[in-house]
Amino acid sequence: MSDEIVDMQVRLTARTATLHAITAGLAPTLTAPEVAAAVIRHALPAVGASAATLLLRTTDGQSLERLVATGYTQAVSDQYQRYPMSTSVPAATVVLTGEPLWIESVAAIAERFAYYAAHPTGFAAAAILPLASDQGADGVLVLAFDQERVFDADERTFLLAIAGQCAVALQRARLLRAEQDSRARAEAALRTRDVFLRSLAHDLKTPLSSLAWHAQIMRRRAREGRLSPAALEDGLMAIEATTSEAAAAIDELHDLARLGSGETLELHPARLDLVALVQSEIAARNDTALAHLRLDIPLPSVVVEADPARIRRVVANLLDNAIKYSPPDSEVRVSLGLGRGADGERWATLQVQDDGRGIPNADLPHIFEPYRRGQNAARVAGEGLGLAIVQRLVELHGGQVSVTSTEDVGSTFTVRLPHASSHATAEGPA
Ligand code: ADP
Repeated sequence: MSDEIVDMQVRLTARTATLHAITAGLAPTLTAPEVAAAVIRHALPAVGASAATLLLRTTDGQSLERLVATGYTQAVSDQYQRYPMSTSVPAATVVLTGEPLWIESVAAIAERFAYYAAHPTGFAAAAILPLASDQGADGVLVLAFDQERVFDADERTFLLAIAGQCAVALQRARLLRAEQDSRARAEAALRTRDVFLRSLAHDLKTPLSSLAWHAQIMRRRAREGRLSPAALEDGLMAIEATTSEAAAAIDELHDLARLGSGETLELHPARLDLVALVQSEIAARNDTALAHLRLDIPLPSVVVEADPARIRRVVANLLDNAIKYSPPDSEVRVSLGLGRGADGERWATLQVQDDGRGIPNADLPHIFEPYRRGQNAARVAGEGLGLAIVQRLVELHGGQVSVTSTEDVGSTFTVRLPHASSHATAEGPA
């Protein structure tokens, strides 16, 4: 056997052993940094590289961020810690194209990558390997060499196999993380639900105690012959009012239970003037809340065909949130108006705008989910159900609710409901 063939066989055996060692090294890794550290630990000596780094695309897709690096000077390490995808460097190109780059001489590529040329890493050659995922490449493994060199076909296959193993392990770490996150969210939701049920039991006991108290007073007065017709009337009126308050709370509970199980709610629509409804909801707030609220209604009436109790709840939840999540001396602006959708359909719009703590970007896409609360809301009482109810009720009416919000600046919730005149066209004049 020629020396060359023996050499090749030795190299092949060594590479197979390296791939096995990497597989074994990756088995216990659970997080992306652990994966990166294990790959670099095994790959670096096996390929004779002097430095290695692993960079991943940030969640917003706009930048590359280093997970681990070894063998670079501190200055280079700091320089390339995180940079926008638009930076003229080989790693960003590899992520964008999904194709590896074999830099056999750094000097030869200086013209192509201006930033890289202006900020040298001190190495003469590099293999920049894409880490493929379901959504294209979402990172790169970089192996850097002191000397210019040629990457032959066998070596390229070997290095791509290492990158492949690394990508699979990263994907597994990502799935594991997603599962842990969703389990943590489900557990938090269960805890919130328990707190909610406790506070609900407490809230329902309050009207019952009040009913018992009114009944006792009337019975005592009747026994003592002191129950005048006026006192009887007052007592019964108080009982009636408390009963309907409790009935409304129980209705809400029913809605919540149906919301949780995905059942549809039965609506009781009527022609409803949103101006009057919003005014009465505002008037029902206490003085402290009233000092907050500025109403802007340029129209005498805004009529919708909707279930009054449900729309009242939508308005109440949005007003209460705006007041609850903004400082007492700030303004909450409530406006009503009419608009037209892209298809010409007329909408009634309600907007509630505050200058409060706002909703963190990470929470914003999930804020209408049941039991979901903003990370910055922990110190404010709440169950995370109000917005889920708002969205469900608005959508049942054929409407939409949306939010724009900036943390520490404020939030604007916009509800759009089909304007009553749109119904009139379909069903004849109202
Ligand atoms: P709750 O207020 O009971 O927590 P909601 O479902 O009404 O539940 O709201 C869900 C989350 O949305 C709140 O916990 C809070 O983080 C955020 N949120 C709602 N409205 C506002 C607002 N106007 N300003 C800031 N954050 C808000």
